[in-house]
Amino acid sequence: MSRKNKTKNVTSIAIKINSTFVRKLFFKFLILDIFLVLILTGFWCFQGEMNFYGEFVPNAQRTFKFYPIETANYKVVWDNGKTMVMDASTLLYSIRKIIMAIGIIEGIFLLDEIIFGTAKTRKILKPLNEIAETASRLSNIDFDEQKFQNLEDAISRISPVTSDERIHIGDSELQGLEDAINKLLDRMRDSYRQQARFVSDASHELRTPISVIQGYANMLDRWGKDDESVLEESIEAIKSESENMKNLVEQLLFLARGINGKTQLTPKEFLLNDMINEVFEESKMIDRNHIYSYINSEEINIYGDMGLLKQTARILVENASKYTPDGENIILRTGINDKGEPYFYVQDNGIGIDEKDVPHIFERFFRADTARVRKNGGTGLGLSIAKWIIDSHKGYFSILSRKEIGTRITVFLPQKL
Ligand code: ADP
Repeated sequence: MSRKNKTKNVTSIAIKINSTFVRKLFFKFLILDIFLVLILTGFWCFQGEMNFYGEFVPNAQRTFKFYPIETANYKVVWDNGKTMVMDASTLLYSIRKIIMAIGIIEGIFLLDEIIFGTAKTRKILKPLNEIAETASRLSNIDFDEQKFQNLEDAISRISPVTSDERIHIGDSELQGLEDAINKLLDRMRDSYRQQARFVSDASHELRTPISVIQGYANMLDRWGKDDESVLEESIEAIKSESENMKNLVEQLLFLARGINGKTQLTPKEFLLNDMINEVFEESKMIDRNHIYSYINSEEINIYGDMGLLKQTARILVENASKYTPDGENIILRTGINDKGEPYFYVQDNGIGIDEKDVPHIFERFFRADTARVRKNGGTGLGLSIAKWIIDSHKGYFSILSRKEIGTRITVFLPQKL
């Protein structure tokens, strides 16, 4: 249908709607006028009777002569013959004037609706008209089945995991769809790569403790039965390696749950300084080889998952303890920076982190390549877990470290989660 035809169509619908409306309005005015006449007349009659008789008798005989107006009258005859006749011409002349005045006003309203109503209705119908036009435009688009067939073939050929191949069918009309599918593919590949790397890193890391345990078990099998020292060494090593493996598996499970969105925060309001104080007290008790101190601040109320934030603080303290010689200081501190963000830090005067390693310390399984670090035997997962927790709280880290001088890792939290 051409645009001209469509406009005609809408106009005729608007005329129909408007004429129905005008008709209804006319009848409403008419009923209103009749009602007004009846009320006025009724009231006038009642008033007249009350004046004449002093009371109203329902079953009296009443007649109203309307025509001709000049001789119009209202006549009431009681049972006892007492008769009242009132001249109604003045009333009817007055009513005629009133109705004429109201009629003129009503007429203006009707005329306005007749002249401008159609245009107003057309305006109201405009959005509907546009919807109808769009629908008809859409239904008129040529549906080229071959194009969709090509797209379908391209999608079914592509593998979301094996290659970096992208969909390209070179059709400008389907470009948007093609881009969206390619973006989805990129995201799927990215997530697949992450998962694959995680699985391969995890199995690689688990292989070492398993081999150590296996080695000692073999040694036990061969010589341990007779040699007391081999027996003791092997049992000790198996115990410590299985402990390492347990930690590793627990940390892996935490990260895997985090990646899959299965670890949910259970935030509540609590005092940051109380929480750090608890970590400080427990660290002093567990690790008697370092000198712990806590620089307390004014009360800092924060909203977050206390368990997970405490775990972060513990990870930082454990690292400080692992990478700091015995007898040295480990300082904990809480405060609020000049941007109003609550923070806590753990500072040590340990071995420090090489400048080139700093950007990597939050990566999974990363361990700085110094003999000292290797010896201390962390899993390389602690800071990845801490980062996941702080990211989930929309916070961030700041790292200050110098080789052989020490390290300060600060966690900043948002004022409100
Ligand atoms: P790990 O279990 O090896 O400690 P983390 O993820 O906790 O794993 O830390 C990653 C690496 O960052 C550590 O192996 C270490 O090289 C470095 N690191 C972290 N904290 C400190 C620190 N306080 N002092 C020196 N190096 C640190």
